[in-house]
Amino acid sequence: MMSTGETRVGCLALNASYEPLTILPLRRALRLVLDRKAEILEVDDARVFRSERRRLPCPVVIRLVRFVHVPRRFRRQVTNTFLFARDHYCCQYCGRHRSDLRGREFLTRDHVLPMSRGGQNTWTNVVAACSHCNNRKGNRTPGEVGMRLRSDPGEPNYVELVWAVRRVTPIQARWIRMFYGEEVLRALSVGADETLDSPTVSV
Ligand SMILES: [Zn+2]
Repeated sequence: MMSTGETRVGCLALNASYEPLTILPLRRALRLVLDRKAEILEVDDARVFRSERRRLPCPVVIRLVRFVHVPRRFRRQVTNTFLFARDHYCCQYCGRHRSDLRGREFLTRDHVLPMSRGGQNTWTNVVAACSHCNNRKGNRTPGEVGMRLRSDPGEPNYVELVWAVRRVTPIQARWIRMFYGEEVLRALSVGADETLDSPTVSV
């Protein structure tokens, strides 16, 4: 079967409209290309897939041939991975970074308006909170306990999430910039410095 030495960096998949959709494993990206469901926009010359019969270029950016409608709920589900990335791995009450937590403390998902009181599991109602602050807040709102949020929780741009949790190469960053513009890229590169899993790109 095919093999590649370096698989840490995936392939950026763009919609037919050039909107960045997701980062795919290289193998999956190559399958889309072989099935003629995607075209290759950028290859990594330093890497190739080798199979018994042929050598294939290693795609780092592909574009889907047909436009795919991706429902918002699939793109922007609240997961702890994305939530912690959005909040830069900091407790939104005491401000401590995940790496500053002590002993048995850990980062949790806090519902600003508790679920038991009708709070929803939506981007605007969840924040990253250390276990200490989450316990202290309990079944109450921040106002009731005299706690204050450091930022208003909002729904993140999909690319912000990809940037925060995945490794993006300079070539891939160029395509993200083409769709979202320089300002978004600059804003993302600032936040990226605070993540533990920093991307390989600098802008
Ligand atoms: Zn805290």
